[in-house]
Amino acid sequence: MNPVFKNLDKIEFPVTYMCTGRCRHCSLGDKIGTPGSIDPEAAERVIKRISSAYDIKTVMAFGGEPLLFPETVFRIFSAAAEAGIEKRVIITNGYFSNDPEIIENTARNLVESGCNRILLSADAFHRERIPLDRVMIFAKSVLKLLPGGIKVHPAWISGRGADNPYDAETSRIVSEFESMGIAASKGNIIFPEGNAEKYLSEYFDPAKAYVNPYIENPEDIRTVSVDPDGSLFGQNIYQTDVLEILDSYEV
Ligand code: SF4
Repeated sequence: MNPVFKNLDKIEFPVTYMCTGRCRHCSLGDKIGTPGSIDPEAAERVIKRISSAYDIKTVMAFGGEPLLFPETVFRIFSAAAEAGIEKRVIITNGYFSNDPEIIENTARNLVESGCNRILLSADAFHRERIPLDRVMIFAKSVLKLLPGGIKVHPAWISGRGADNPYDAETSRIVSEFESMGIAASKGNIIFPEGNAEKYLSEYFDPAKAYVNPYIENPEDIRTVSVDPDGSLFGQNIYQTDVLEILDSYEV
């Protein structure tokens, strides 16, 4: 085993960079809207192969908006459940269709596919772009099927109760979900990258060196994250077996 991956326990799929939002804090910036999505069979293979060699505890799907490709997402979670991976998590903005029937069916199929933690991106930034009534149909459907399995997952400038208009509005939105029985996750603190760097610069201290909290230590990689085009560590899962990619990875 490549020692760099001795603590590897998570596989992530940003399923697509297509999205129903264009949020002003989005760290993806110009990548948002790039067409395409991960091939479901290839994603399934990655899960099977990696989990046969490593003790994987979490599989996560996000985007963009992953539920624009629901069948791919279902396949990812059913493969993760079959492989015995305990935490099967999606981050979604909850808006992928205007049709209530499609929204409810997707929520049911998502839960039945094996997804057991749903993080619903909702805050002042998403609220500017994403229609609340559609999100609520999704949230209520999931809440019925998987009580306690859905959390609101907000992005903060500084945190709950902070003295700026975005965090004040996000605090209000989080309370709205809490009153429905949907608790809040810790959420994310926004860092200056992508749209956030362009549109929220007044909230960042130019003298401070911000660090992207999602960048891994290259000598102790705990998460494998496969891009929608199959890229992984300078190679591609469509051309090379994922375990060979991990074995040949050099710092
Ligand atoms: S923050 Fe989330 S919902 Fe908003 S544009 Fe980015 S990926 Fe889409």
